[in-house]
Amino acid sequence: MSQTMKAAVLHAAGEPLRIEQVPIPQPGPGQVLIRVVACGVCHSDLHAIDGDWSALPRLPLIPGHEVTGYVAAVGPGVSEPAIGTAVGMPWMYSACGTCEFCQGGMETICERRESTGYSQQGGYAEYMVAPAAFVASIPAGTDLYALAPILCAGVTTYRGLKRSRAQPGQWVAVLGIGGLGHVAVQYAVAMGLRVAAIDVGADKLELAGRYGAECLIDALSDPVASLRQQIPGGVHAALVTATANAAFEQSVQMLRPGGTAVFIGLPGGNADAVRTSISAISGWELSITGSNIGTRQDLNEAVAFAARGQVKAEVSLAGLDDINTVFDRMRKGQLVGRTVLKIA
Ligand code: NAD
Ligand code: ZN
Ligand code: ZN
Repeated sequence: MSQTMKAAVLHAAGEPLRIEQVPIPQPGPGQVLIRVVACGVCHSDLHAIDGDWSALPRLPLIPGHEVTGYVAAVGPGVSEPAIGTAVGMPWMYSACGTCEFCQGGMETICERRESTGYSQQGGYAEYMVAPAAFVASIPAGTDLYALAPILCAGVTTYRGLKRSRAQPGQWVAVLGIGGLGHVAVQYAVAMGLRVAAIDVGADKLELAGRYGAECLIDALSDPVASLRQQIPGGVHAALVTATANAAFEQSVQMLRPGGTAVFIGLPGGNADAVRTSISAISGWELSITGSNIGTRQDLNEAVAFAARGQVKAEVSLAGLDDINTVFDRMRKGQLVGRTVLKIA
């Protein structure tokens, strides 16, 4: 094995990534070395490189947290997963395991958690290291390019739908039919929910329709009114995966009494605040809840839906060298489905 690998590296916020040869990391105690096969390009990576969030990433940074590949080596003390196993690495790089949240099955809000491709090096590279305990097993024979988006877009929207507490037969609005939203539609349908899809792009709405969304709503022409016209009384739940602040405010206005809006998108910066009606929330007993990626158990369940063929991301492949072009197109909202870097 050569001692260096190809990686896409961020040196300063707002700059393009640079394609470089860097040393192959070595797995320490409790860690595995993953030979990366595929890595999805999540909008969170774009927020990271643009410096959109108040907590900035480590620098230099190798982004990427929708990683699939094979275990290439294991560090001291690791017996599972074994060398050669197909694995995935999500945004949750690690959590402490001992705090009240970790102990309570809520490791997603552990205050000592680390993030793949943000506080730790990620998968826009030929290899990455990861804690063995946080690596997801992937059923043998799975298409690793098709599965990569499940590692973030899949698990995040699956958990978000569970946190909405929507029941089979009820309506959920999915605001934002991008990488996350287009798999959210599929999880919702697989969970027996009825879906209204809202986005600014006709091509994205068309995709949502193919996956079973019954109402397709243009976000640019009074989406609250058109949703309420098509679904009298409003929706039981709304999942906001859009990157525009307006969608968060609209999601609350789309709810029927007792409904829940789940905030997932992270516009950051000046857009990180919403205006909403206190009397509507109080008088109609509405809920707004956040949902942050997913636990390891959420991830196992989300992968199982995909492995059974109930959820399948619409994937466009690109090379590591194309990464800056992919980000330019993401900034303009031109990507349909998820773009996945083909690394091996
Ligand atoms: P994406 O760029 O693939 O999709 C965003 C979609 O939002 C696009 O289709 C865009 O057309 C649509 N959109 C823009 N303005 C809209 C509006 N006003 N109404 C409706 N739709 C609108 O991005 P993605 O990879 O799906 O990520 C979406 C967001 O989710 C990002 O902010 C990302 O950082 C965040 N995210 C959060 C978590 C979490 O755990 N909370 C996890 C992953 C991603
Ligand atoms: Zn992500
Ligand atoms: Zn913890």
